Amino acid sequence: MSQLPFSHLALKPELLRNLDSLEYHYMTPIQQDSLPVILAGRDLIAQGKTGSGKTAAFGLGLLQGLDSSRFHVQSLVLCPTRELADQVAQELRRLARQIANVKVLTLCGGMPLGPQIGSLEHGAHIVVGTPGRIEEHLRKGTLRLNRLQTLVLDEADRMLEMGFQDAVDAIVATTPEQRQTLLFSATYPQSIEAIAARIMREPVKVEVEALH
Ligand code: ADP
Ligand code: MG
Repeated sequence: MSQLPFSHLALKPELLRNLDSLEYHYMTPIQQDSLPVILAGRDLIAQGKTGSGKTAAFGLGLLQGLDSSRFHVQSLVLCPTRELADQVAQELRRLARQIANVKVLTLCGGMPLGPQIGSLEHGAHIVVGTPGRIEEHLRKGTLRLNRLQTLVLDEADRMLEMGFQDAVDAIVATTPEQRQTLLFSATYPQSIEAIAARIMREPVKVEVEALH
């Protein structure tokens, strides 16, 4: 199997430099299949096992499209648990290291609301969180997604298993119709197909085996 280097993609030079310093030289198969689709602005359903490099696949897409001089929420990543949201936020911050002033904020349940509201007042470019807490902030008016460009559902199968479907629908309803929607999942049950049909536009489907 031939692996392509990240330099094969038209990414911002600061992203390519940073990937080099992280020693991410070659794309993983899921990155190779999904990044061109993401960078072209298409909706995407990507199925791949744990460890296949899904975070950088969507992360590089979000960061490539980000305008850090405009201080509003441009991307939202929904995750099933706080632990996963923290991992995603950490990876996004690593990937964003050489882009000036990118603010990644996590908003998860089980954490006090006050500090989250304070952070939201300062603004963020990318929000990573769990559906229940994101919905709560939307209801309170402490978070607005009216200028969202990209919505990511990470570990979508687990999110639906945990009963977050109504929260996801409520969140999607507050976002612009013209957004890009990216869905990542380890499995592809009927429930994923159903939610994709509701919230995505002509998604490209990519399926990749595990790295190891
Ligand atoms: P997934 O979400 O598919 O389970 P992750 O995004 O958590 O996988 O990535 C798994 C591991 O692989 C992480 O430690 C990440 O830093 C690393 N990784 C991702 N992409 C690359 C790459 N292109 N080259 C080297 N390591 C990578
Ligand atoms: Mg993941």
